[in-house]
Amino acid sequence: MRAQLLTQAGRPLAAADLPEPRPGPGQLLIAVKACAICRTDLHILDGELPDPKLPLVLGHEIVGTVVERAPDADRFAIGDRVGVPWLGWTCGVCDYCRGGRENLCDRARFTGYQIDGGYAELTVADQRYCFAIDPRFADVAAAPLLCAGLIGYRTLRLAGEGQRIGIYGFGAAAHIIAQVARHQGRQVFAFTRPGDVAAQTFARSLGAVWTGGSDETPPEPLDAALIFAPVGALVPAALAATRKGGTVVCGGIHMSDIPSFPYRLLWEERVVRSVANLTRRDAEEFLALAPKAGIGTATIAYPLAEANRALADLRNGALQGAAVLVP
Ligand SMILES: [Zn+2]
Ligand SMILES: [Zn+2]
Repeated sequence: MRAQLLTQAGRPLAAADLPEPRPGPGQLLIAVKACAICRTDLHILDGELPDPKLPLVLGHEIVGTVVERAPDADRFAIGDRVGVPWLGWTCGVCDYCRGGRENLCDRARFTGYQIDGGYAELTVADQRYCFAIDPRFADVAAAPLLCAGLIGYRTLRLAGEGQRIGIYGFGAAAHIIAQVARHQGRQVFAFTRPGDVAAQTFARSLGAVWTGGSDETPPEPLDAALIFAPVGALVPAALAATRKGGTVVCGGIHMSDIPSFPYRLLWEERVVRSVANLTRRDAEEFLALAPKAGIGTATIAYPLAEANRALADLRNGALQGAAVLVP
């Protein structure tokens, strides 16, 4: 099968012709129809996340069709369309798994990181971590739901019930979560790179009530802020824009160092927290909500062979929405 392969951190992906993977116990063989590109893929490519499987097929926002099943894998039928997210396997027995926090499993394994992912024509996945995709979403449109949507949803959930939600970094996750927040009757304040008029126009088209640069102060204090850009300096900026008792949630897996800041920015019970990974419950809730909320995704499709160009466009901030590879 054709694949785009990471052989070493810091190197571009290489086109490869790999043997077809075989489904092991509990696994499905899936013909990939679309795989969205996540900023985490760039962090793995750049060597910012430790110990990836190498060589590695990146990609953890996979939409595909079941073409073969292990004898014990009967959750889906041949021909069913499924989505495969970042969380690829958990142990089920550690304290975190048993406590409903499988996203923090001590032995968790992740798609497109420790397990080969979706930058390929075929992939295998544990059926327990595959999800049905609503028919209202076409393959390419559905792909960004699998991480930008899911982890964005968890980020919003952990921000609490506040009405005024700031979103820093208006990329793939933000453009989906702004729609969810609006569906829930909240107000979205979108912060972009200073002077990024295109991103601000994009945010307003998705219902943001205010847009500005990340160095600007919103007209009213925020109840909570979500940070999707991998920029540590946004943490004190977001705290400064957040009211007493508010929460700043960091939604990414990697961030540049957070600069020191005066304690008064945290004082008055403001909270800074991160979000790690997702649970299957997050996936089920969000994938049921997305069609009901009328979520639309903005996508830019690239042929699989042009994965390096798509990654470069994401790195350069040239995208309004999500890049999606199509084999
Ligand atoms: Zn991701
Ligand atoms: Zn576990």
